[in-house]
Amino acid sequence: MIPSVLPTYNRAPLTFVSGEGSWLTEADGRRFLDLGAGIAVNALGHAHPALVKALGDQAARLWHTSNLYRIPQQQELADRLVEATFADTVFFTNSGTEACELVVKMARKHFFDAGQPERVDIITFEGAFHGRSSAAIAAVGSEKMTHGFGPLLPGFTQVPWGDEAALKAAITDTTAAIMVEPVQGEGGIRPMPDACLKGLRALCDEHGLLLILDEVQCGMGRTGRLFAHEWAGIAPDIMMVAKGIGGGFPLGAVLATEVAASAMTAGTHGSTYGGNPLGCAVGCAVMDHVTAPDFLAEVNRKASLLRQRLEGLVAAHPQVFEEVRGVGLMLGIRCKAPNADVVAAGYDAQVLTVPAADNVVRLLPPLNITDDEIAEAMTRLDAAANQIEQAQEKATA
Ligand SMILES: *Cc1c(COP(=O)(O)O)cnc(C)c1O
Repeated sequence: MIPSVLPTYNRAPLTFVSGEGSWLTEADGRRFLDLGAGIAVNALGHAHPALVKALGDQAARLWHTSNLYRIPQQQELADRLVEATFADTVFFTNSGTEACELVVKMARKHFFDAGQPERVDIITFEGAFHGRSSAAIAAVGSEKMTHGFGPLLPGFTQVPWGDEAALKAAITDTTAAIMVEPVQGEGGIRPMPDACLKGLRALCDEHGLLLILDEVQCGMGRTGRLFAHEWAGIAPDIMMVAKGIGGGFPLGAVLATEVAASAMTAGTHGSTYGGNPLGCAVGCAVMDHVTAPDFLAEVNRKASLLRQRLEGLVAAHPQVFEEVRGVGLMLGIRCKAPNADVVAAGYDAQVLTVPAADNVVRLLPPLNITDDEIAEAMTRLDAAANQIEQAQEKATA
């Protein structure tokens, strides 16, 4: 009999009832160090007092009015995102997937209104992840995500990661945009080198294409800059944001330049909940922290500390781990042992990590994780690695 919750997830047998900072607690009181942060969502950890207050205050006043009316919290968050980034304008969604839907529509409408309606195609990269809607799975095109869900939305071409020749060959008269994650998340924490991002920007300029960045996972301070593309000194035309921007409240956004977005006039797009007072009040509180002086400097300091410790851990367990990669507090350990085993051994050691493609275990801790918690994380990951080594020895004995 089918479970009452549609069984589309492989869930771990863990049930958390409360959280505080970098910690999650089960009903029996067992505490877990959370290095996954709800897949890079709880950017300020669990139950951050400022976010609790922002949500509580707004909840006591007004939950929902719809986008039929002005929403001051939405206006404020948009103003602040425009102030802090390349963007001239922002549309709010409830998720990364919905942001993906809009970027596809925006790119097509841009060229349609510019008198080039044939430009509809978007080039994406192998290993990418842009969400689970019909457009987002067509964008990625992998067998794993699209099997059984055809016919797929046409208009996407995938090229291998890091293959410049294939990318150039894929650009045609019908190309509208290139869409890429500056650091692939689900794909296994694969950063695109700064030189490649610069190259992408130049290629888009040369061919008159829009550069769409998906910073749903790598944005909002995760890499040590407010947005990851800032490391490369470039700017996109359109950007998807979600996950960390709501600190745990469902919130996403599309940021764009005026040129890219100006075809999206009244009536061309909408969302009942997108940009609602609750989400935007929390989003403003997240912005308060992430844009505060020294916040990102602290992220970078802790990122170097974590990375240095991880390099030591990997060196100490060559049968379990292979290499550390990533940027800032978006780190991946490529494993020698199956990554699922490493994640499961972490559960036994009461430390939470997240698997990714390419046999990688992701570490996406709250951006305000403390030095002591980083030390504790190492103790627990070391215990997890020891457990795997013991199992390996048993298996070969
Ligand atoms: C999670 C993610 C998405 C999808 O976001 P949802 O909020 O799950 O719809 C899109 N792109 C990237 C890079 C992501 O990590």
